[in-house]
Amino acid sequence: MTSKIQIHREADVMVITVNNPPINAGSTEVRQGLMDAIHLFQNDPSALAAVIIGGGNTFIAGSDIKEFSQPLAEPHLPSVIAAIEDCPKPVVCALHGAALGGGFELALGCDTRIAQEGTVIGLPEVTLGIIPGAGGTQRLPRLIGIEKSIELICGGVRIKAAEALKLGIINKLVNDDLLMHAITYARSLIGQKSRIRDIAAPQAEVASVLEASQKALKAAKNRPNVQQAIEMITNVMTMPIDQGLATEREVFQTLRVGMEAKALRHQFFAERKLFKALSADELKPKSLEQIAVIGAGTMGSGIAIACLSAGYSVLMLDQNEAALGNGVKKVRDFYDSRVASGKLSADKAAAFLNRFTFSTQWAKIASADLIIEAVFEDMQVKHDVFQKIEQHASAEALLASNTSYLNIDEIADRTSNPSRVLGLHFFSPAQVMKLIEIVRCKATAPSAIAAALQFAKRLGKTPVISANAFGFIGNRIYAAYRRQCEFMLEEGAYPEQIDQALEGYGFAMGPFAVADMSGLDIAWAMRKSLAATRNPEHRYVKIPDTLCLAGRFGRKTGLGYYQYSQGAKSGKVDPVVNAIIEEASAAKGMTRRSFTSQEIVNRVLLAMINEIGHLYSEKVVSDVTDCDVALVNGYGFPRWCGGPVFIAREMGKEKLESELDELAKQSGPGFIRANLDGLFE
Ligand code: NAD
Repeated sequence: MTSKIQIHREADVMVITVNNPPINAGSTEVRQGLMDAIHLFQNDPSALAAVIIGGGNTFIAGSDIKEFSQPLAEPHLPSVIAAIEDCPKPVVCALHGAALGGGFELALGCDTRIAQEGTVIGLPEVTLGIIPGAGGTQRLPRLIGIEKSIELICGGVRIKAAEALKLGIINKLVNDDLLMHAITYARSLIGQKSRIRDIAAPQAEVASVLEASQKALKAAKNRPNVQQAIEMITNVMTMPIDQGLATEREVFQTLRVGMEAKALRHQFFAERKLFKALSADELKPKSLEQIAVIGAGTMGSGIAIACLSAGYSVLMLDQNEAALGNGVKKVRDFYDSRVASGKLSADKAAAFLNRFTFSTQWAKIASADLIIEAVFEDMQVKHDVFQKIEQHASAEALLASNTSYLNIDEIADRTSNPSRVLGLHFFSPAQVMKLIEIVRCKATAPSAIAAALQFAKRLGKTPVISANAFGFIGNRIYAAYRRQCEFMLEEGAYPEQIDQALEGYGFAMGPFAVADMSGLDIAWAMRKSLAATRNPEHRYVKIPDTLCLAGRFGRKTGLGYYQYSQGAKSGKVDPVVNAIIEEASAAKGMTRRSFTSQEIVNRVLLAMINEIGHLYSEKVVSDVTDCDVALVNGYGFPRWCGGPVFIAREMGKEKLESELDELAKQSGPGFIRANLDGLFE
């Protein structure tokens, strides 16, 4: 027996407990211990039934993902499950907390499953670029059918035990003393064996399988592992189970060492480390309950919804009655539409809205623990607002700015206690987008950063910590990306070609479609404000300015990089824009040339990698993998490609250096090669 597995006897029932805190992850030691325990159980004539249960707060909540990067050590999970199935005596699996991935597959290998109310069950393997590899795709369909299995496995869906009971995945649901109930249950099964593998293979209509598959593939953006998962699940209808299991294992092993799975593991670990700072003993972040949001515009209303949905009390304040009314309406409409579409119960919506207040009176912010301003992007307005906040807020409240580009140190310096000032940069729509940049200013107290991390965690967001620098992390990288795309326009590419190449790579949207959606005038105003300090020697692409001068501000004006007809979902190529682009090339004496999609994607990735090198050298980020997290969670970068840092590391420093030399030549004056050491530390 390994130290991760304990066994004890309750008369004729053997209890096998998995103890691998904190999540009882299925590791080599756990698998070996389980194997030994099953053999012991099988060979002990006085033990007539067994219970497998998790120690601590959970059953096996997943596999030890670190092991996935190496050859997997014996015994493999399928062998452990085979030993349980081959054992002539019944084994009951007792679930609490979470039974995910390999943990759930183990449960499917047992004769019956009993669960504590609230237990979360699922096969999330597809989110890591793989498929269940220990029988999940073969056993689950025998319980719930082909179509439902496609939905749950391909979506990596987690369900609660009550639903699992309804579906027939678990046999019994209890709400107290799980172990006692499991032992009684096991005893009632003595002399019986009920393996899922012996259930007849389910059959299904071609049309309904096709429908479920198409839905799953669409949601999963056609990822190859999801296609494989569907194939494995549908194999159940025609293949004997042992052949189905062997095929599934082979596919799992191939996917596990593939590039997508590697990239997704990189993202997984990069995201998981984000909350590590919170475990430091010296950081005891103040608990926040009441949030005040200043500004009831696009961002203010989104932030208010995000906070309300996480259970905070929210006060929304705006200086303007009409703007406040609009913001309040947006919040209410959001919950109304969730209720109407069945995504939220009316009771829950009412509970959220019960904690929502709004006002134009500053005195109301006195009870707030955290005040987030989302007023106009103007330094003087921000100063005025912070002055008002200081007059009325409690001395302990944390004060945050949602500014995209303004210098938060400059705002903090004018307050009487800059240690409580920080940036909380949400992305639009704030109730949807996962990313938050937490901006650490010169004087921000570590406890304020810790409180912000905890706040982000409760919101269900993915935070990265940035120093206070222009554009923080994400917008800095995105600016380098867009600049590179503009260079390519000038050199010979067209907007639709660049957008198609990047969407083909997996970006949610191409840069020019994004620009049209967010409005070209915002970036134009920014460029005008920076014009005086711009180095005239640097390469500057005038195309966006020319479009703005022609009144083409994007979707809202019906014209931008594309032309938009009323109600159309996407824009159409506009010959006028192509002519503007060609004239811009001619004005600089450039001979236009053609681009392949591959070249477009490579240049974009290299430009991003280079900018990340700068961000690290300038100490804007302390861990470069935060940049990958920011791009995936805030900028539509395809998660399964890992992010620029992952790509740089895969490429290797030498190749990267030479490709960046080439990019520097193509980009011309103003492109500064970054020191890349920080990406390879
Ligand atoms: P918005 O124009 O939609 O809303 C601003 C609101 O602030 C208005 O309702 C206005 O009445 C109110 N306001 C202005 N001055 C005020 C004052 N002195 N006191 C109280 N209320 C005042 O703007 P937005 O798009 O929500 O942006 C707000 C902030 O968030 C800006 O700093 C912006 O840079 C930042 N931001 C915007 C986005 C985005 O995509 N819109 C994304 C991230 C960050």
